[in-house]
Amino acid sequence: MRLIFTGPPGSGKGTQAKLLSQRLGLVHFSTGDIIRDAIAHGTPEGRRAQAYVHAGQLVPDDVVNDIVNSRLRAPDRPARFIMDGYPRSLGQAESFDALLKELNLPLDAVLFLNVDDGPLIDRLSARWTCPNPTCKATYNTLSKPPRRPGVCDECGTALVQRDDDRPATIRRRLKVFHEGNDELMAHYRRQGLVIDVPGAGDIETIYQNIVSALPRPSPNP
Ligand code: AMP
Repeated sequence: MRLIFTGPPGSGKGTQAKLLSQRLGLVHFSTGDIIRDAIAHGTPEGRRAQAYVHAGQLVPDDVVNDIVNSRLRAPDRPARFIMDGYPRSLGQAESFDALLKELNLPLDAVLFLNVDDGPLIDRLSARWTCPNPTCKATYNTLSKPPRRPGVCDECGTALVQRDDDRPATIRRRLKVFHEGNDELMAHYRRQGLVIDVPGAGDIETIYQNIVSALPRPSPNP
């Protein structure tokens, strides 16, 4: 099974992608996580991406396409995966289409987790993350609080709020998301791949909605 998973920031896309990857045995490929790691480690890609991420803007297509292409061209590339947060623009989608065609790895579906902006702003301002690079667990003080306030359940590290989860940045990120996503969904709707899933409800309900909407997987090459 090969999926692209899209949805506005704060839609619960990351949580659902993690569940799908664990339960269906797919590699979870999050460009947001990879970029944050690159920034934390001060790599050349991280240095190029830093200002864009902190301003709530998209990182240029060529930087993100390079990250994805080098991972999927590697000999140990995953054949079954869920893309979380990539592609995010028509330019990225066209680059990804060409890569998957070259590798003979057709997509099974593009899932769109749909949530209105109002609840997203509330949810995102409540989001906290574990900064431990080997953990990266996420919490939400409204829907998924840690057992001890401010402390990661998994590893005990003090939780932090991401720079891009501040309200002014959130509004900018939503605007950027809508501008790119309409075009992106039109591209994949033309290929008959889009599945719309309503993103309201608890984590397990949304998960069941997604799984029951998934097509049968295409065979691996
Ligand atoms: P995310 O965790 O997916 O919300 O990503 C956090 C930030 O990383 C975004 O606000 C962008 O600045 C950057 N980013 C992640 N994925 C992409 C992508 N596919 N294209 C451009 N920028 C990205």
